[in-house]
Amino acid sequence: NHLAVSGSSSFHESVGGKVPLGLRRRQLRVLVTGGAGFVGSHLVDRLVERGDSVIVVDNFFTGRKGNVAHHLQNPRFEVIRHDVVEPILLEVDQIYHLACPVSPVHYRYNPIKTIKTNVVGTLNMLGLAKRIGARFLLTSTSEVYGDPLQHPQVETYWGNVNPIGVRSCYDEGKRTAETLTMDYHRGANLEVRIARIFNTYGPRMCIDDGRVVSNFVAQALRKEPLTVYGDGKQTRSFQYVSDLVEGLMKLMEGEHIGPFNLGNPGEFTMLELAKVVQDTIDKEARIEFRPNTADDPHKRKPDISRAKELLGWEPKVPLHEGLPLMVTDFRKRIFGDQEESTE
Ligand code: NAD
Ligand code: UDP
Ligand code: UDP
Repeated sequence: NHLAVSGSSSFHESVGGKVPLGLRRRQLRVLVTGGAGFVGSHLVDRLVERGDSVIVVDNFFTGRKGNVAHHLQNPRFEVIRHDVVEPILLEVDQIYHLACPVSPVHYRYNPIKTIKTNVVGTLNMLGLAKRIGARFLLTSTSEVYGDPLQHPQVETYWGNVNPIGVRSCYDEGKRTAETLTMDYHRGANLEVRIARIFNTYGPRMCIDDGRVVSNFVAQALRKEPLTVYGDGKQTRSFQYVSDLVEGLMKLMEGEHIGPFNLGNPGEFTMLELAKVVQDTIDKEARIEFRPNTADDPHKRKPDISRAKELLGWEPKVPLHEGLPLMVTDFRKRIFGDQEESTE
């Protein structure tokens, strides 16, 4: 068990000798890069709740202090404004490396910065992990499969990615990040984990980041038409954020490197998603068709057999249950306090 035998120099002592194995764990120092973002802040909530000391490193490009503000009084919590493209010295036991612009709107805003974050940023965090002997988890993406020629996508599929397109800074950036991670594992004996995350939604998502779930929800709440790109028949699988966080933690604590697909296999066309949003928010919401973006993958659905078998993980929250939780949060953030909310 890694938690009992971690080789890194922790200032925390193991908690007691006689606790049954499995329940026994010492308090860890955990670094979450991108921890002020959507997924990162939910992960931080769980780590803090578990009693770990958590350091967030974030440059606040898309992250918000508000996402972690509720921890600022906690002496075991710390936020550092820092860009992972620059080196940093810290002492931790585990590194969850999430920092990266994610939505097309953000990663295309400055593609060179995006690829630098994926390559130089990941290299720095791996160098850090190597120096201190920390376990390193990379949050990669289903985009490494590109416009997949295999459906559903299995981890052994090598993908179909355009290396010179407008999405490449993100897709190829993450592919290189995976390569670096495996090379540090093989070449420097680093303990690593790789998650390939499929489309995830939930409270704290950036409101105007252009991703489909956040767009549709904000549009329906603002009484604007839902913008369906292309013919709306392309598919995606949508995972609620708590399921993802559970999967990331199981992966970090487990014995397997991966890569593991972490996603919800429930597959929806964009028109079906629009219908779920209409049913949840406003049955009268109109749909407006717009031209699709270049290189848009036609289909995407994870095969999660490997995560089920080796991590004992599978998502629990279906779209019709997760979406209302996100709507409550978006309603509050879009309309402020004048709207009643149920949370
Ligand atoms: P997010 O934009 O909410 O979070 C990313 C965080 O990284 C932000 O807080 C941002 O400020 C920070 N960041 C960006 N560049 C940085 C840099 N150079 N230095 C330091 N901090 C930096 O996005 P998210 O949805 O929470 O995504 C988190 C991770 O999960 C990303 O690595 C992303 O690629 C991966 N992922 C997410 C999804 C999804 O659907 N949400 C899907 C696949 C993969
Ligand atoms: N690095 C870092 N913090 C550390 C150790 C390394 O940011 O505690 C950075 C370092 O600046 C370098 C990168 O991680 O750019 C890779 O480090 P590594 O030691 O693997 O490579 P080297 O420095 O030998 O090129
Ligand atoms: N999309 C859409 N309307 C929007 C935003 C996106 O129909 O307002 C489509 C987009 O063309 C893509 C799918 O929704 O086919 C998912 O897009 P998103 O950017 O959310 O995720 P990704 O393409 O990274 O999976």
